[in-house]
Amino acid sequence: MVDILDSIVVKSARKDHKCDYCWQKIAKGDSYELQRLNDDGRLYSWKNHVHCKKIAQHFKMYDDCYEGLTREDFIETIWEIYRNHNPEVKWNQCKDIQLAVDFCIKLMNGLDSA
Ligand SMILES: [Zn+2]
Repeated sequence: MVDILDSIVVKSARKDHKCDYCWQKIAKGDSYELQRLNDDGRLYSWKNHVHCKKIAQHFKMYDDCYEGLTREDFIETIWEIYRNHNPEVKWNQCKDIQLAVDFCIKLMNGLDSA
């Protein structure tokens, strides 16, 4: 089981990182969340965009994840949300993950009229 040892929000990244949820860049200067985790004695850190955490919370992704939400779960879920609203999009067109992330942010903010 995974324990969160600590969790902080870094206001301004000192260098580029990669988000462990969406696998997109966390650019230098952006804020991100940094967690230190203990997975049965294996220590590692997890970084994610603040908006990716909000997406996961908003779409209740943590509810069914006893072992913690993985990147695969996250990406699968945001594509599912995207495809539910854009049924004309084929799976093989689902390549640009940023598209799905942006779409989820729009939905969350209630700006999408679809
Ligand atoms: Zn992200």
